[in-house]
Amino acid sequence: MIRADHVSRVYSLGKTTVHALRDVSFTISPGEFVGITGASGSGKSTLLHIIGLLDQPTSGTLTINDTSINELSEDEKTEFRLQNLGYVFQDYALVPELSVLENVFLPAKARGMPKDEYLRKSEEILSQVGLGHRMYHKQNELSGGEQQRVAIARALINTPKILFADEPCANLDSKTSRNILDLFKRLNEEYSQTIIMVTHEEWHEEYMCRMIILSDGEISDQRECHRKSNPP
Ligand code: ADP
Ligand code: MG
Repeated sequence: MIRADHVSRVYSLGKTTVHALRDVSFTISPGEFVGITGASGSGKSTLLHIIGLLDQPTSGTLTINDTSINELSEDEKTEFRLQNLGYVFQDYALVPELSVLENVFLPAKARGMPKDEYLRKSEEILSQVGLGHRMYHKQNELSGGEQQRVAIARALINTPKILFADEPCANLDSKTSRNILDLFKRLNEEYSQTIIMVTHEEWHEEYMCRMIILSDGEISDQRECHRKSNPP
């Protein structure tokens, strides 16, 4: 369970200050697929970075699975991220020199997983995301949708409790976007993967449990979504 209480984030730029988030409170339950939406500049990425422990609130508190995040040291936060959180970004952030397989096992290797285990697990996850036939390819031999699926496989390798995604479909056409959203939905339904995804596309909510709407740094609305069932 994620709980944000009165979270604010103020950026100071010389004499001007930007209130990117103002007094934001919400909870997210395990197994939810939650969207965060709102206009450009409304604070979506700032919020995702804070609940993903990539940034700190100026005020307010964050609790994840009974851990009071504000009380952790930087080292403890790094460890918490490695053990519990996975990230997918708009620009994929793959290492171009490495193969698909190597990109995926990198975080597992960094965490000290034995080689036979990280190889087996990477192959398994790549098959799961439909890239079992692309393991030895490099980034420049893949389509945008395939690159994003590699990034998702990499985010899943350490079995994160929470998967964060910041506009993962922003560079993809709508057919490929559906492909990625179908994958997220399947992970959420079959493995109860908790997913928090920033999007600016309203139609994405048909894949989600709930949408949080930000406007000017505040939660202006929240709605339960009505997911479409899988086609027969
Ligand atoms: P969104 O992801 O919804 O487009 P952001 O969270 O990136 O919005 O930004 C929210 C507000 O905070 C914007 O006004 C943006 O200009 C400002 N902002 C974001 N990051 C920084 C930063 N590092 N320094 C100063 N202002 C920032
Ligand atoms: Mg953003």
